Amino acid sequence: MKKLVVLALCLNALVLTNPAVAEEQKPVDVLLIGGGIMSATLGTYLQELEPEWTINMVERQSGVAEESSNGWNNAGTGHSALAEMNYTPEKNDGSIDISKAVEVNESFQISRQFWSYQVENNVLRNPHSFINSVPHMSFVWGDDNVDFLRKRHAALQQSTLFRGMDYSEDPEQIKKWVPLIMEGRDPAQKVAATRIHIGTDVNFGEITHQLVDSLKSHDTFRLDLNTEVRDLKRADDGSWNVTVADLKNGKKERNINARFVFIGAGGASLTLLQKSGIPEAKGYGGFPVGGEFLVTDNQQVVKRHLAKVYGKASVGSPPMSVPHLDTRMLDGKQVLLFGPFATFSSKFLKQGSLWDLFGSVTFSNILPMTDVGVENFGLVRYLISQMMLNDDDRFNALKEYVPEARKEDWRLVIAGQRVQIIKKEGAVSGELRLGTEMVIDKQGTIAALLGASPGASTAAPIMLQLMETVFKDKYATPEWQAKLKAIIPSYGQKLNGNVEATENELEATSRVLQLENPHVDPGTVAPHAAKAVEAEKQAAPAGKHQPQPADLAI
Ligand SMILES: Cc1cc2nc3c(=O)[nH]c(=O)nc-3n(C[C@H](O)[C@H](O)[C@H](O)COP(=O)(O)OP(=O)(O)OC[C@H]3O[C@@H](n4cnc5c(N)ncnc54)[C@H](O)[C@@H]3O)c2cc1C
Repeated sequence: MKKLVVLALCLNALVLTNPAVAEEQKPVDVLLIGGGIMSATLGTYLQELEPEWTINMVERQSGVAEESSNGWNNAGTGHSALAEMNYTPEKNDGSIDISKAVEVNESFQISRQFWSYQVENNVLRNPHSFINSVPHMSFVWGDDNVDFLRKRHAALQQSTLFRGMDYSEDPEQIKKWVPLIMEGRDPAQKVAATRIHIGTDVNFGEITHQLVDSLKSHDTFRLDLNTEVRDLKRADDGSWNVTVADLKNGKKERNINARFVFIGAGGASLTLLQKSGIPEAKGYGGFPVGGEFLVTDNQQVVKRHLAKVYGKASVGSPPMSVPHLDTRMLDGKQVLLFGPFATFSSKFLKQGSLWDLFGSVTFSNILPMTDVGVENFGLVRYLISQMMLNDDDRFNALKEYVPEARKEDWRLVIAGQRVQIIKKEGAVSGELRLGTEMVIDKQGTIAALLGASPGASTAAPIMLQLMETVFKDKYATPEWQAKLKAIIPSYGQKLNGNVEATENELEATSRVLQLENPHVDPGTVAPHAAKAVEAEKQAAPAGKHQPQPADLAI
């Protein structure tokens, strides 16, 4: 009897001192798969909106932000279409369509407000650790490209969002802006550039770390690292039973039951979505494209360039091939990045498996995937040509932007993987989609984010859109509406065409995020009413914030 009592006490003590065992069976309200910026952003919103909800984040790596969100695995551009020319295509009549640029910029204003709110509430700390002012520039050469850039600049001046953008065709002026790009350049080459000061460089990895650190301080939140999701099954009551493996403990499996599951697994989201078996996942496939950058941390070179300078993709190349020379703040140091150079690997994650692509082929997506391969031969050809590049080729590409570059200053770094979406269209055909897509079951119990463009810059608006769909009833309540208005002050309002609202928003977020916001004489940027209305019409559907993910991005 005495022995039994001792045994019972020991078992009791074991359970009490090992919370993992005790908590393991407890269902959670929300399961976030993946510790990237998307999950961290959604978790932060939900923690604010429903502090009582229990949230479990599971991440297969030993830390968060180890994949695409890591500062070194992406280009860190706060995408707001200030410099990226692919967001302003030329129409057949020669005019410039700015609607996509307006939409991308509006989305980024939501991100700025979301981050500002987090700084004001001590969730994010020290803005310079994750966002810094870096002028955004477009730079082109050749008559046609110069004509295009001149028209693009004029068209963007009709929107309040692109206030204060300078334009020059004067090599001496451009040299003052970006000496590295102009020194050693053929003086006969016709060049043009735009420059705008409200551009940013963002360390999305740092944002992810800080958001997750803050989530961890709440006892309703639990983070499981080294924990890989293996399977997802819908339970009879509509909740989800998710099988996870403890990678540090002999891959021992356990089950997490969740009312709502967000698949924020980056490139691996497609695989997990397929495992969920929801009908909405049928017909989706993915095509991985990796990226590489040339980087220099030679401070004599780095200090002579302060800008993110976007060029034009060569004719026939896909948007992800647009070259850019970027000032970055990484690991507390200023460095320069040039690229990206596309790479091909069958992995869906940088630290994934070579079987990822083959394992994702199903009966429902094999024909669309084949069709996309045939129909998008330009992309296939581009990827093959990129794979053939050697060090000299990459260096020659750099020299088009930095004519006096020295090989010894630059090294190659491997960035993240992006899985482009392939969607079944009709019986056998498929469409390659270069944007971001949310796949949500009709009950609103599971959602996955596919694609990665414009990417991390739009985490805040995309997660807002997700919540509006899956938590429809809650979203409509006065409580949620009031909190969302506090987080995103411009919530429900379009900034484009509204000089005062744009000025207020930029002033407020620049102050909190410690960003530059040069004074611009409103008289020089205020759109004529008619033009503003026209730009407004071209922009994404009005009404509540419904950021439509851009379908072109870098
Ligand atoms: C080369 C390149 C350049 C880019 N440049 C920019 C840019 O300039 N600006 C911009 O805004 N965006 C850019 N992006 C896109 C941006 O990086 C991504 O959109 C964003 O980081 C995606 O965040 P995420 O949270 O969805 O994914 P991730 O950051 O990849 O996070 C997903 C997480 O899920 C984990 N995971 C995967 N499978 C499992 C599993 N089974 N179980 C548990 N955990 C799992 C992964 O380990 C990872 O940590 C770029 C991307 C690339 C590749």
